[in-house]
Amino acid sequence: MFKAILIEKPEGAPQSARVAELDEARLPDAPVTVRVEYSTLNYKDGLAITGKSPVVRKFPMVPGIDLAGVVESSVAPEWHAGDRVLLNGWGVGEAHWGGLAQKARVKADWLQRVPEAFTTRQAMAIGTAGYTASLCVEALVSHGLTADRGEVLVTGASGGVGSIAIALLSRAHFKVVASTGKTGEAAYLKGLGAAEVIDRNELSQAGKPLQKERWAAVIDSVGSHTLANACAQTRYRGLVAACGLAQGMDFPATVAPFILRGVSLLGIDSVMAPRDLRQKAWDRLARGLDAAALDRVSNVIGLEDAIHAAQEIVAGKVRGRLIVDVSR
Ligand code: NDP
Repeated sequence: MFKAILIEKPEGAPQSARVAELDEARLPDAPVTVRVEYSTLNYKDGLAITGKSPVVRKFPMVPGIDLAGVVESSVAPEWHAGDRVLLNGWGVGEAHWGGLAQKARVKADWLQRVPEAFTTRQAMAIGTAGYTASLCVEALVSHGLTADRGEVLVTGASGGVGSIAIALLSRAHFKVVASTGKTGEAAYLKGLGAAEVIDRNELSQAGKPLQKERWAAVIDSVGSHTLANACAQTRYRGLVAACGLAQGMDFPATVAPFILRGVSLLGIDSVMAPRDLRQKAWDRLARGLDAAALDRVSNVIGLEDAIHAAQEIVAGKVRGRLIVDVSR
């Protein structure tokens, strides 16, 4: 038996989530069984557990788009009992039972080795949010961004993606401007390396198609008017990496920044990103983050707490990253 969060949706009734004791025989059919040590709570897990968006594609579902732990058994030749592994995305926690559980059974090529630099707990302090922040940095750098180009705006700054993006960029000597709704968290954001903190209200209302040029690059986890304004304020031939929708899925913008200033909008997807890109992103995290930054951004909760925290993260009230210790 193992413990897991289980989301159920009986015919004609709303969905509900609880911590359940499940028989291992109920695990999905897949070649590698992992003893999960830690998972995380991402914004998407919040949507899955609360049912606020249709993230879960079949019921009953064990949520959790991330996990880190140790291989218990494997019929796939590339993994052996005792290997330290992590998993981000691939539809896990959406269409296949996920990481908010003490056991998971998954496909071999969904797994990656936990970098030597990290414990399984630190890997989940990073989780999908941090790995996505690294994908964003990777996209900007591979399109030519260097630290001498000027300021980099990070929106949704106090969230998971935002916090890790600030830590990664500042350690690589970029000058980071953090946009947040939690201006009381300025000390936290500066502690992560932000040079300046701005109120997100400056970006969240409808604005002009072209505005005063400021940003060499942007990492946006917010979408909607914020993304439109960020593009409108990006400097000539600047870069905008868009990965999220915390304000909204809409993009009420014009083509002006793209056709008049040569701004490039780079789309970031973590779920189905190819393995070589994932490896690059995790390698960047391993060399570009220090343990102190990970401690500063993360709090540890248990499985039962994760059900309540799901409401908080969807309401935008969580600072940094939530690690879920599945043994609690
Ligand atoms: P968090 O909830 O940790 O952070 C989101 C942050 O956005 C909040 O902390 C808040 O920061 C800000 N925010 C929340 N609500 C609003 C609002 N109404 N208007 C403006 N800003 C708001 O989530 P994550 O960091 O885990 O994820 C961020 C986004 O990125 C989500 O939309 C998520 O779905 C997406 N995502 C996408 C991935 C991909 O593959 N493309 C992978 C991972 C995440 P503050 O208070 O500082 O302003």
